[in-house]
Amino acid sequence: MNTDFADRLHLVLARIRAAEQRFQRLPGSVQLLAVSKTQPSAAIAALAAVGQRRFGENYVQEALDKIAELAALDLEWHFIGPIQANKTRSIAEHFAWVHSVDRLKIAERLSAQRPAHLPPLNVCLQVNIDREPTKHGLDEREVATVASAVATLPRLRLRGLMAIPAPAADFTAQREPLARLRTLQDLLNAAGLGLDTLSMGMSDDLEAAIAEGATLTRVGTALFGPRT
Ligand SMILES: *Cc1c(COP(=O)(O)O)cnc(C)c1O
Repeated sequence: MNTDFADRLHLVLARIRAAEQRFQRLPGSVQLLAVSKTQPSAAIAALAAVGQRRFGENYVQEALDKIAELAALDLEWHFIGPIQANKTRSIAEHFAWVHSVDRLKIAERLSAQRPAHLPPLNVCLQVNIDREPTKHGLDEREVATVASAVATLPRLRLRGLMAIPAPAADFTAQREPLARLRTLQDLLNAAGLGLDTLSMGMSDDLEAAIAEGATLTRVGTALFGPRT
């Protein structure tokens, strides 16, 4: 079982390194977040045993159980799922990163609830880049205003933007929304926000995301196999 995890991790890392090279990205400039939602703690431990340290979770209670079970391992936990206001305290207390901040009220609560003994919580703003009515995320037109406000919150560190584009038919179509996310980030940086993270790319579009400047790709299926 551990060899399966080692093989899949090495395959995904090889895809990332090949895409860095192909698209003239600096070697090592793209990090891998292993998305472990619905996967048991044993699978996370197996992937950790072959070298993976960053894990992403979507559901608060499921994540808290696994974080407690795996507390002896030195793992970095990222929250990437939809955020309900009544769950912000648990997130602020147990995670190092949150990729899915999609309104100012949630950011204010996370900042207020981040424990004083922990470093500031790293956050990305989630953008609904394809304006899908059923998807979470800020409208592109609101991002600059919300980003300026989030950047002033004392216990958060605004790191960048995150998106989950709609499925696309081919590589060119995959790149288009990812390019728009990068352009949006460039505009925020031109305004002085100093963002260093573009959280984009999943199992099926990580090459397109790396072509468009991703710094953190969120990969589930290609590492763990299909979710049940
Ligand atoms: C599930 C999920 C992923 C991983 O998707 P795969 O296609 O399994 O790689 C990435 N990001 C978010 C926000 C997710 O919910």
